[in-house]
Amino acid sequence: MHHFRFCPECGGRLAQQPLRLEPDKKELTCTACGFVFWQNAKPTATAVLENKHGEALLVLRAFDPKKGFWDLPGGFLETEEKPEEGLRRELHEELGVEITDVSFLGIFADRYGEGEKMEITFNVYYRARIASGDPTPASDIADARWFNAASLPEHMAFESNEKALDAWLEATGRAKKYGPAPAV
Ligand SMILES: [Zn+2]
Repeated sequence: MHHFRFCPECGGRLAQQPLRLEPDKKELTCTACGFVFWQNAKPTATAVLENKHGEALLVLRAFDPKKGFWDLPGGFLETEEKPEEGLRRELHEELGVEITDVSFLGIFADRYGEGEKMEITFNVYYRARIASGDPTPASDIADARWFNAASLPEHMAFESNEKALDAWLEATGRAKKYGPAPAV
């Protein structure tokens, strides 16, 4: 979590203080004007992009956090952007593709980064297909490849990636890869 020191409203000192309406919880609060600096989860939109062979497109992260790990394509929403708009923008920027058959897959909370740079994320995942364009890595990714269920990496960049892939495998009638195996 960020350790911001000064109030963005008045420049006063921020400190962890009990919330007025929930005294058993503490949030970063201005000691001068009482402004509460909420560090709410940041929303993202991400896709399991699938092809007609039942494969998913993964992207290799070019930068930290999790440089060198496979990720699902997507990213942080911009101010006032709707999740599906953000998804279309990110996939255009990252891969140069337009998408179609977009359907909701699930929401999975997660963490992004470490220490003071760590963000809590609220991740909206979709299933989608490519309408046009050949996936071409751009901006913050080093590679993009199709993976079948058997060849998925042992560990994805983020836990929410693994939950989303499991949800997708289940939705397409296949066994989960990352979650606990079903009890026999
Ligand atoms: Zn203040």
